[in-house]
Amino acid sequence: MVEYNDLIFEISRQGRVGSSLPECDVEKIELQQKLPKHLIRETPAELPEVSELQLVRHYTALSNKNHGIDNGFYPLGSCTMKYNPKINEDVARLEGFSRIHPYQPTETVQGALEVLYELQEELAVITGMDAVTLQPSAGAQGEWTGLMMVKAYHKQKGEVRTKVLVPDSAHGTNPASASVAGYETITIPSNEQGLVDLEELKKHLDDNTAALMLTNPNTLGLFEKEIVEIAHVVHEAGGLLYYDGANANAILGKTTPGTMGFDIVHLNLHKTFTTPHGGGGPGAGPVGVKEKLIPFLPVPRVVKAEDQYALDYNQPQSIGRVKGYYGNFGILLRAYTYIRTMGPEGLRQVSEGAVLHANYLRKKLEPYFEAPYLQICKHEFVLSGSRQKKLGVRTLDMAKRLLDFGYHPPTIYFPLNVEECLMIEPTETESKETMDAFADVMIQIAKEVEENPGIVLEAPHTTVIGRLDEVQAARQPILRYTKEASAVKEKETVNA
Ligand SMILES: *Cc1c(COP(=O)(O)O)cnc(C)c1O
Repeated sequence: MVEYNDLIFEISRQGRVGSSLPECDVEKIELQQKLPKHLIRETPAELPEVSELQLVRHYTALSNKNHGIDNGFYPLGSCTMKYNPKINEDVARLEGFSRIHPYQPTETVQGALEVLYELQEELAVITGMDAVTLQPSAGAQGEWTGLMMVKAYHKQKGEVRTKVLVPDSAHGTNPASASVAGYETITIPSNEQGLVDLEELKKHLDDNTAALMLTNPNTLGLFEKEIVEIAHVVHEAGGLLYYDGANANAILGKTTPGTMGFDIVHLNLHKTFTTPHGGGGPGAGPVGVKEKLIPFLPVPRVVKAEDQYALDYNQPQSIGRVKGYYGNFGILLRAYTYIRTMGPEGLRQVSEGAVLHANYLRKKLEPYFEAPYLQICKHEFVLSGSRQKKLGVRTLDMAKRLLDFGYHPPTIYFPLNVEECLMIEPTETESKETMDAFADVMIQIAKEVEENPGIVLEAPHTTVIGRLDEVQAARQPILRYTKEASAVKEKETVNA
């Protein structure tokens, strides 16, 4: 078995090959005669030399070490790791979709354009917006796209506004996107209930306020009850309201950002709308806007003129293109399939299930951990490991201990305004049995902290490797196989 933990370079043996070709029956030509000298390597590429079976086993073993939604519970708050229905995959693989090219004449891809157009329309209804672009390929890119439209909007009115307000519970991408878009970010503190402090907000509003970025329910899983008043005061100051809709799992079919008074929203199709995510993409972060921002949407826009679908580049005030072609088409197709298979009633049930599951798990765990906000949550909730910290065990240690039981840990140390934070989102797609089993393990770990903290502090015990030296990994990453690096690894294995 040992072999499967090795790097592929370590199992390499000179001359071993994974393919067999018939004898060459044409005259051999030296590469040097055909290619310019500067394109030819001086030393051969260092590629691993392994058999086909070794190769298959190597990658299969690697894939088994991966934790994904298809092989275990993944309660990663704010990330909505829910089941990805396999019918989405079937549809995305249909030849009529998978074998077309973005440069084909639009008359020959009417079906694909129809899907894009309908998805835009559906997402507009779901968010309460007037128009949608599907181009951005992640939540963060959606935020940036939205903020560039904010900028264009104020500019058109002859105004220069330099500040974007962001609550302290916001996802890190919010201030990051605002900075990339050239704004200064101002942090608005939350009150004791974990909600935006309206009085604090008012203090920061002036004619320099470009926008407030908010998510509702916020990242603590709590609904901002004063949202109508918040929207009112921001608009009165001439600012716009941006809704971070990465996790729309609590509001589908219940309310919309448009109803709450927002002007712009992005969604993460790779969270709420069941397209796969993790490992860095591909994703999709469509952006919806109210009427007054439509002229600034990216081009091309997918439009319908009489019975034909077309790409409209003629939008003089547009912020331009934000992505090659028309977005991540395969991901958009999967989300479209999901929305059509669920229907409006199904999507409403998603939200009801997500909120019910989160509250069920919250109630089971609250006696064993510090619960900073004792109230009904939406699709996710936060606990604090501060009680365990007093006993010398940190949230990080408990997260590592969960690995021993085959669970992906919840999000930890986020949001930043909760000490030793654990942020849990079970999603609507999990069974009661799964949530019960997870709760039992969490309770067991809380007991271990009191009775046998060593087992938690030294976790994980069952994974291929234990704790990584994260600082060294960040400062001195070994990204290339060398004999020396392999020797270091061997030494560490022996020490472990
Ligand atoms: C995931 C997430 C984002 C960022 O989305 P990406 O697709 O990872 O760029 C933004 N806001 C919230 C609340 C999120 O959960």
